[in-house]
Amino acid sequence: MRKPIIAGNWKLNKTPHEAIGLINELKRELVDVEGVDMVVCPPFTALADAADALTESNIALGAQNIFWEDAGAFTGEVSGPMLKDLGVAYVIIGHSERRQFFHETNETVNKRLRAALKHGLTPIVCVGENLAQREANKTFDIIKDHAEGSLSGLSAEDMKKVVLAYEPVWAIGTGKTATPAQAQEVHAFIRQLLIKIFNASVAESVRIQYGGSVTPENIAALIGQPDIDGALVGGASLKAPSFAAIVKAAQKLEIS
Ligand code: PEP
Repeated sequence: MRKPIIAGNWKLNKTPHEAIGLINELKRELVDVEGVDMVVCPPFTALADAADALTESNIALGAQNIFWEDAGAFTGEVSGPMLKDLGVAYVIIGHSERRQFFHETNETVNKRLRAALKHGLTPIVCVGENLAQREANKTFDIIKDHAEGSLSGLSAEDMKKVVLAYEPVWAIGTGKTATPAQAQEVHAFIRQLLIKIFNASVAESVRIQYGGSVTPENIAALIGQPDIDGALVGGASLKAPSFAAIVKAAQKLEIS
């Protein structure tokens, strides 16, 4: 049984001050939660304050990106040792917004992934097709390309430390969610790919989150699918009541 994982991707939102406020609310709402991994991913500028606010809580801290070199002349980048030193445990890699707006490729995703693993951070690696690709029946080709390219050269042992997120681009921030059946179909396909690229034991243990307009209303049906192990949540992670409701729905399923 894979432990559900719900992560909040705050994107370009929340000052350090606002982050502390949201985390304090989340801590109150989620103090009793067990059996679900919970992660919040504030922007870099709020990580230090977020780490302080999260001390001794059951919520882990994640970053939204990582550079592949540890240090040097790379203006504007943030490295694994810097994140680790702050108490960061997870890092989102290859989010579609990074692929779309910042020229992220499978190759750079792979470099970031290796850096995260090297520094003991848990990577959340995103894959997903856009609307044109879905409408052209290219969904599986894109997922295969993203998965094979992003995970290239990883050992089976390392792959077991990775979390994957299936995020159809057409469902991100649009209010359009993939139906549970649409999401399950792709998650099952990803699990088959993991068998081919690695082995059955990797495929069985890797957690695959769904992301794309997840809300307290639709989470139960999504996470009720056999191959959906959690959610990467954007908009609904910016308010404590909605993020907490999503976590609690995942916990309910875990207990039932
Ligand atoms: C995301 O940021 O990864 C995401 C899925 O956003 P939203 O939940 O707002 O669609």
